Amino acid sequence: MKKLFFGFLLFIVAIASAQTPAKPKLVVGIVVDQMRWDFLYRFYNRYETGGFKRLLGQGFSCENTFIPYTPAHTAAGHACVYTGSVPALNGIIGNTWYSKELGRSVYCTEDSTVKTVGSNSDEGEMSPLNLWASTVSDELRIATNFKSKTIGIALKDRGSILPAGHTANAAYWFDNASGGWITSTYYMQAMPNWMVQFNNRRLPDEYMKKSWNTLYPINTYTQSTADDKSYEHSFPTGTNSFPHQAEKVSANKYEIFRATPYGNTYTLETAKAAIEGENLGGRGVTDFLAVSFSSTDYIGHAYGPNSVEIEDTYLRLDKDFSALLSYLDTKLGKDQYLVFLTADHAVAHNTGFAKEARLIKPSPNAPSLQRSVNEAVKNAFGDGKYILAFSNYQVHLNNELIAANKIDREALKQTIIRALIKQPEIFSAVDLEKVQSANLPDMVRQSLINGYNQKLSGEVQYLYKPQYGGYEKGAAHGYWNPYDSHIPLVWFGWKIKSGKMNREVYMTDIAPTVAALLQIQMPNASVGKVIEEVIAK
Ligand code: ZN
Ligand code: ZN
Repeated sequence: MKKLFFGFLLFIVAIASAQTPAKPKLVVGIVVDQMRWDFLYRFYNRYETGGFKRLLGQGFSCENTFIPYTPAHTAAGHACVYTGSVPALNGIIGNTWYSKELGRSVYCTEDSTVKTVGSNSDEGEMSPLNLWASTVSDELRIATNFKSKTIGIALKDRGSILPAGHTANAAYWFDNASGGWITSTYYMQAMPNWMVQFNNRRLPDEYMKKSWNTLYPINTYTQSTADDKSYEHSFPTGTNSFPHQAEKVSANKYEIFRATPYGNTYTLETAKAAIEGENLGGRGVTDFLAVSFSSTDYIGHAYGPNSVEIEDTYLRLDKDFSALLSYLDTKLGKDQYLVFLTADHAVAHNTGFAKEARLIKPSPNAPSLQRSVNEAVKNAFGDGKYILAFSNYQVHLNNELIAANKIDREALKQTIIRALIKQPEIFSAVDLEKVQSANLPDMVRQSLINGYNQKLSGEVQYLYKPQYGGYEKGAAHGYWNPYDSHIPLVWFGWKIKSGKMNREVYMTDIAPTVAALLQIQMPNASVGKVIEEVIAK
């Protein structure tokens, strides 16, 4: 009987240990700023085996992942990926937005109560204060009673701070004044030694000693337009054609550094230094490294998504990813870490390219949108600053003045809407306070609802015809359309199946899926759903 009892106990212990949930050593969240989904395939034949091809071949690709809100900008994208939530609920409605409360434009991560750490500049006066919701990295910290370490790294402050969340051990971003990484007193009073040493290597100065030339002979870049298109911006020390003479840059050197592929390689080197310096993944608890590659966005804005510059940037980024995965294999062991790769938004074709491709017709010289709307309001309601601002394709009303002057608010909104729709490039303008009844296809209306924050947004939003609303030079993003909202989402490593699917999923589904994989609570404003297909049983 005794034997039987001990046997039973052993059996119980065996079951318990078999059920002890294994965890990955490290989660690496990768956001590629402005990456279009089709870049996975447009340059596929030129990728090497260890980078994008390995992620796609061994990992799981959610081929139809969309941003479920509009406008699609960097801060909102990073916030959505990590909170599983939308601007309506997480408070990050743009990179900047007009604040009625403060009577000025607000920057997403501004915080005048904190100071820069690591430089004398004011570029460190930043924190996640304006983010209302928790991130999945916050939830990991809470779930492990703050034993997990969470670190954010990106050249852009918003690409680092918003993913790392409120409880982060650190977020680092790049400082144009000193040419190195900084943080703020929100996180720490002094930089850790490993980061001081890393900054002392002055890597950006080394990168900027050499020209940015194409990785391969330029005549092999057959997936791109000619190199000298007039609708590209010029490199500051030359033309819009290769080579871009980085070594000749003297003014704004580090601002220009950001807009070279070296900015991505530098970000990768920093991520590795953080793993070494903080022993991430080596401490017996799951750590979280949130890395965002910002240079892709700066380069995309300057030259557009069909440029040789973008093709070259992705070929180089592919090599960086190959190096990162090999490093993680060696450091932590294959399948011991979890990676997801996505984007904060994609990007539209450049306007000049779209005209060449006859996607849009050359538009007549229309008077400026803002001037037309202001004139219509003045004609109908007389003098008085009834419109406070145009911000993120929204019109902010001066509700106090409207009330004081007893203006018919509904009639005013209708006047604005009619003036907007008269614009040749605008096809719809919506009263956001009645967005539910907007006569638009479900997914467009839903995207407006998710982007509309009752406390922060304007009252009227206008929508451009497809492919309009861009710049004459370079490229832009921000709309509901697939070119801006269709993003890559690839899972790789710990507990991830290999495969791909076309079922439509959303940016909001990323954080709850990470939470499910880690068996932790989803973020506190999450509205996403777990993407079960990616998880190996
Ligand atoms: Zn971005
Ligand atoms: Zn951008």
